[in-house]
Amino acid sequence: MANEGSTINPFETAKRQVDIVADLLGLDDGMRQILKHPKRELTVNFPVRMDNGSYRVFTGHRVQYNNARGPSKGGIRYHPQVTLDEVRALAAWMTWKCSVVNLPYGGAKGGVVCDPKTMSKHELERLTRRYASEIAPIIGPEMDIPAPDVYTDSQTMAWIMDTYSSMKGYTVPGVVTGKPIGLGGSEGRGEATGRGCAYVIREAAPHAGVKVRGGSVAVQGFGNAGSVAAKLLHDEQGAKIVAVSDTKGGIYNADGFNPHAVEEHKMKTGSVVGFPGTKSITNEELLEIHTDVLIPAALENQITKKVAEKIQAKIVAEAANGPTLPEADTVLYERKVTVLPDVLANAGGVTVSYFEWAQDIQGFFWPLDEVNHKLEAIMVRSYNDVHKVSEARHVHNRTAAYVLAVQRVVDAITIRGIYP
Ligand code: NAD
Repeated sequence: MANEGSTINPFETAKRQVDIVADLLGLDDGMRQILKHPKRELTVNFPVRMDNGSYRVFTGHRVQYNNARGPSKGGIRYHPQVTLDEVRALAAWMTWKCSVVNLPYGGAKGGVVCDPKTMSKHELERLTRRYASEIAPIIGPEMDIPAPDVYTDSQTMAWIMDTYSSMKGYTVPGVVTGKPIGLGGSEGRGEATGRGCAYVIREAAPHAGVKVRGGSVAVQGFGNAGSVAAKLLHDEQGAKIVAVSDTKGGIYNADGFNPHAVEEHKMKTGSVVGFPGTKSITNEELLEIHTDVLIPAALENQITKKVAEKIQAKIVAEAANGPTLPEADTVLYERKVTVLPDVLANAGGVTVSYFEWAQDIQGFFWPLDEVNHKLEAIMVRSYNDVHKVSEARHVHNRTAAYVLAVQRVVDAITIRGIYP
């Protein structure tokens, strides 16, 4: 991830974003201070018994950024480079994302400084259970609901649910989302991010002068979010997938290819590269090819100002979190490229997490078509909300989404009032 964006402190960026929106909304200094401070932060240092019998102390964080609109919600990340400021920024962004799609949630995030690639499954289980027990006093279905993030998955969520439930003395499925289906997970959660992204592209296309049927699509990062978006755009909307990539590089064919066949090729060979009938391209070249829709679905900080000047796509739909740097946003806006920002374009994941939580609380589970139908309604409504603000205020979609999200949080804080 070594690029020009990697040295930026993400929490400074998150606070700058609040200031920009606060200026637009004319917020006073007191409200700005509230919006730029996490409400609650917990740092825990805890011992884990390693497989060789030794003990190691790990550090973890849980930050609840804002809960004015409801319990806080956000994933847990396991990574050697986790810092408190990164967790604060991610928690702030979760607050805005939940608000953009109007879920009754605030925002939170967690992280443990560790290198999961060098740990055994047993070590990861002990680390997860101990971290869960340390943060247990501040999580719960009515307080703060974690979910998977980088290097955590449905198994991690199952361990957290079991640890929390053991401490309570009864089973509490609603304490985390992203669980396996057999433990109270939701149908459709696995593909929700890509599906939500495909719905938002469909809604934006007419405003951006794009015909998705027969139109071309390039996807950087053929993983969970990117491959699902590609398959759904291909199968349900008749789009031509012309380029996809992964860490090993990209493939291109102007006439399009079948993303299901590419997925099979990737499963057999470990990469999309070498798929028959395509030409190899680099990840940088992928961002600059002539295409109707470009979906960054890999990492943050991919679209710099320089890259933005060369992008040929009419729509950039951010399945990834934070792929575009702020200077690049301005360039894309001036070049009339429609950006569908991450807080909108990848919010399908947290939306179906919300459905999972609601189903767990009711103890009543919905079939897949009901989940997808409800997801579609929320993504369509949210796109239209953002588009209206963008038109009315003459700002790009990211600013519009932030204006909408921050205003909703401000309204909740104002109506609730300050205690005492
Ligand atoms: P994933 O690990 O399933 O897929 C990531 C893909 O990106 C992999 O194919 C990987 O090979 C590729 N990749 C990694 N580095 C790359 C590089 N330098 N160039 C090109 N490709 C590269 O992860 P995911 O869950 O699909 O997440 C992808 C992005 O979407 C992340 O930014 C994540 O935060 C965001 N996101 C995911 C979800 C979700 O529900 N999965 C929800 C919201 C946001």
